[in-house]
Amino acid sequence: MLVNMKELLKVADENHFAIPAFNISNHAMLNGVMDITEKLNAPVILEIHPNELKHIGTDFIESMKARAAHSTVPVVIHLDHGASFSNVMTAIRAGFTSVMIDASSKPFEENIAICQKVVEAAHSAINFTTVEDLEDPRVKGDADREEFRFGPAHFAGNVSVEGELGTIGSINEVAGSVDDKIVYTEPEDAVKFVSATGVDTLAIAIGTSHGLYPKGYVPKLQIERLKAIHAALREAGLDTCLVLHGGSGNPDDEIAEAAKNGVAKINISSDIKDAYYKKMREVLQDMGKREPMVIEPECIRAMQVVAAHKIELFGAAGKADLYK
Ligand SMILES: [Zn+2]
Repeated sequence: MLVNMKELLKVADENHFAIPAFNISNHAMLNGVMDITEKLNAPVILEIHPNELKHIGTDFIESMKARAAHSTVPVVIHLDHGASFSNVMTAIRAGFTSVMIDASSKPFEENIAICQKVVEAAHSAINFTTVEDLEDPRVKGDADREEFRFGPAHFAGNVSVEGELGTIGSINEVAGSVDDKIVYTEPEDAVKFVSATGVDTLAIAIGTSHGLYPKGYVPKLQIERLKAIHAALREAGLDTCLVLHGGSGNPDDEIAEAAKNGVAKINISSDIKDAYYKKMREVLQDMGKREPMVIEPECIRAMQVVAAHKIELFGAAGKADLYK
């Protein structure tokens, strides 16, 4: 079942677990992630960065939608780090049910302005999917009923929007260093930002970085800051769910703590790809192998071991039942 991010994360937030957002960019990875997710009966977010979308092409989204429609678990198709209005519109037209607009490197007011524009466009976009029928509670009155009468009988509400506030660190894997210019998210700024923009979900900076940490580097998450941001939003009457980027390589116990204390979505990209391609390098040592169906299954299994670990760690295993 294909749903939008707001619906998906609300349940996670209320039940104190987090849902993994796996970045995938080929068909084997899509099937691998869906298979392990269904096996563990976990909700899942399939995430694609604009650079990955350029690589696989928007037609691939049709396959993802079909896989989600036939799935036993709730699925969101999410654009990771949309860099422009045009990135976001491309994703909405292709059928994503959630988009991120990342203007976190811009000044606060500019970040607000672009998020407002994206929220208006995304919330106006009705995304036809496989959810229920015209008795759906999201059809609020006769006008909505009329509007949907001649369309497909099944739809999810609008497209969700993720904004980002603060600066997540970035790892220079060549130099083996971490860019220490992390600008931590302040609770009062989060309230101001969400109130002004209407974003459905918010990526916050509490001490993670994108990429894989150099050997010996121990990152530290600020769980107290996370709790304060979550509490400030709820006190202000905002139901925005929180997102953690750069979750690859942080200590397991800290990530599990974050999932219990207000983070509802955790992005995982480097960790699963690392497992996939490490195994592929091994498999390709055998010069006689050239068929994808011979080379890929072992690599997918290696990727699934990591994905399964994340699903369990975030407390998401078995949680698809909460959506029935
Ligand atoms: Zn990110």
